[in-house]
This record gives sequence, structure tokens and C-alpha cells, in this order.
Amino acid sequence: MSTERMCHWHKEWTSEGVLVAAVETGSGPGAMFYACPDCRERYGLQPLDPNGDSAPGPG
Ligand SMILES: [Zn+2]
Repeated sequence: MSTERMCHWHKEWTSEGVLVAAVETGSGPGAMFYACPDCRERYGLQPLDPNGDSAPGPG
């Protein structure tokens, strides 16, 4: 099962797109877009964790 998403960064469809937070200065407080794994690595994007459980633990 895969869901096709439009990668906001390279503007093509990807089946591995995940929601990331993107801050676009000058046009608002930021927004959320889908990004493929390649673009996440290339642009250093941080995927959003829907469970809010991604905070690094101490030590
Ligand atoms: Zn991409």
C-alpha cells in the first residue's frame, strides 16, 4: 500500500512523501508540505511525527 504525494520540493509525485514543516520566510508563519526522502536529506527537512513522539530523549 502506498499513497502518492506531490513532493513540494522537486515537484513530482512520490509514494514515500511524508509531511514536513516548512518555514517560508516573508509569506507567513510557515506551512506543511510533503517531501520525498531524497529532498528531506538534500534540504535537511524534519518530518513531522503525528504521534508527537519524536523528541530525543536525554542521554
Ligand atoms: Zn522530492
